[in-house]
Amino acid sequence: MLALKATIECSNNANEEVNIWSDNESSFQALKSFHVKSKIIQEAQMILLGNARIRLGWVKAQIGIKGNEIADILAKEATTDGIPASLPIPKLPSRRTNYCSSSFSLLLYSIIPKISNKQLHWSRECTQFATGHGLFPSYLKRFCLHSTDYCGCGEIGNPLHYATRCPLTLSYHHKESSPQFIVNWWKSALSIKLSRQNTDNLITFLATNEDLIKS
Ligand SMILES: [Zn+2]
Repeated sequence: MLALKATIECSNNANEEVNIWSDNESSFQALKSFHVKSKIIQEAQMILLGNARIRLGWVKAQIGIKGNEIADILAKEATTDGIPASLPIPKLPSRRTNYCSSSFSLLLYSIIPKISNKQLHWSRECTQFATGHGLFPSYLKRFCLHSTDYCGCGEIGNPLHYATRCPLTLSYHHKESSPQFIVNWWKSALSIKLSRQNTDNLITFLATNEDLIKS
């Protein structure tokens, strides 16, 4: 997972579309989960949520795929010739533990101040909006369900775009936030009932006007 996260971080600085291939299925499963407590995974998720140009793909191991075989050889060499690295020791989950240490967890922590089994009662639409896992070109493109991650208006079609900038969804806009207040923006959008209703309406609009948002 650490190697995959390092690759994601490196790709985030590339300022271009990057496809990352790996045979590590368990890491992909962890990245897809919204309930992980690992700081490493949360930070990788945060990068992926904010950068639709990074795409992940799984390849079967040990069937002779050249790039995958080379990666295996390099990984084995690194165990003998590489620079020693230290891994953070996982902590047992407890209240507030390991939960507000990355941007992504800070966002979650600001919305859910205590870890509890209490349901958030978010609608399906709000969950899609918060996770980015919905009918957004930025999400669909990763799974080849959309030809591009651009909205019909010409900008990257992610949840923030539709909630604040897209001229096609003007009726559902929230006030745009400056980057330093983005956590507060998400907190308001997901914790105030009227904002959540507005978000529900936005996601419903996107679902019923899919052709309109496609570029
Ligand atoms: Zn748009």
